[in-house]
Amino acid sequence: MIDFNVPTFTGREFSYMKEAVDSKKICGDGQFTKKCEKWIEERFNAKKVLLTTSATSALEMACYLSGIKAGDEVILPSFTFSSTANAPVLFGARLVFVDIRPDTMNIDETKIEEAITEKTKAIIAVHYAGVSCEMDTIMDIAKRHGLKVIEDAAQGIMSEYKGRSLGTIGDFGCFSFHETKNYSMGEGGAILINNESDILPAEIMREKGTNRAQYFRGQVDKYSWVDYGSSYLPSDINAAYLWAQLEIADEINEDRLSTWKKYDEALRPLEKEGKLQLPVIPKDLVHNAHMYYVKLSDLSERTAFISYLKENGVQSAFHYVPLHSAPAGKKFGRFFGEDIFTTKESERLTRLPMYYGISDEDVSKVIKTVKEFF
Ligand SMILES: *Cc1c(COP(=O)(O)O)cnc(C)c1O
Repeated sequence: MIDFNVPTFTGREFSYMKEAVDSKKICGDGQFTKKCEKWIEERFNAKKVLLTTSATSALEMACYLSGIKAGDEVILPSFTFSSTANAPVLFGARLVFVDIRPDTMNIDETKIEEAITEKTKAIIAVHYAGVSCEMDTIMDIAKRHGLKVIEDAAQGIMSEYKGRSLGTIGDFGCFSFHETKNYSMGEGGAILINNESDILPAEIMREKGTNRAQYFRGQVDKYSWVDYGSSYLPSDINAAYLWAQLEIADEINEDRLSTWKKYDEALRPLEKEGKLQLPVIPKDLVHNAHMYYVKLSDLSERTAFISYLKENGVQSAFHYVPLHSAPAGKKFGRFFGEDIFTTKESERLTRLPMYYGISDEDVSKVIKTVKEFF
């Protein structure tokens, strides 16, 4: 069976983990955490980066730091992972789901403005498959209406929008280092803080509401509980694992892109024949080959496609059941306007095996099996 995902592993993870253990500092904010944060800041030109225990926790931080509170509304797509929606719900906000574009599966930027009310506080832009949302339009709307923009860039590390790295465009950006993402520390993430004034509040929130970071820098002579917070620091052992991957980030990225291109070149002829649809990468965007998906004609053809692949030794995975149709989505939010594409497109999509180090032979087998299905 060709696995759908194999977590990224470079071979140097254990020696860095041993270094962390030998240094007798394995809690948060150790040497490897600092290295990873500095690398992300420099590589993507980010103002401030803090590693977190997940993208879920980075999203929670971004929502609280954006001032989201009970009674506010937050605009987001329904075609996303539950974490995008859990974060604003935690602070009492109502969710307003906006339809997606059928080409990129990202929020339809032309439908955001009509969904704004006097209660709207923020827009969460999810960069699906590491392909950017239309950020110029989203930032312009946010500016005119005084809204915060949180980028759910859980899938978007190494991707760009018009020369700018995803995660650095809105007020906050959130990366994921879960084992299913391009770079991994098992479970983990990062928050990118793009406004100077949010840096200190972010440090405080991440350190259980204390000003411990300021204390360690010698800026205050004792630390105390100054605001709401939680424990959002990952262990330095996990950061050491991640460092082994960031160190060769380009090699990993190129390997994934090469797999992506093999799928794309081999399957385009099928698209021309009208048999399926393939990902669309708008002009001016750089993507990170987070996933390769295909779209079948409808739900029943997708079900048959996934079974056929499975019978022939290829794992394929679909996602997401639109949040507005899920029990929690109904409880915490509403869909704005008409669901033209969210449900329809989500039922057509499935993902092909994609991971660092997948062999040419396996990629060829996947392609052959897809072609045989048709
Ligand atoms: C993976 C993912 C998350 C959650 O990331 P964790 O690090 O597992 O918390 C959130 N949003 C999107 C779009 C994701 O793909």
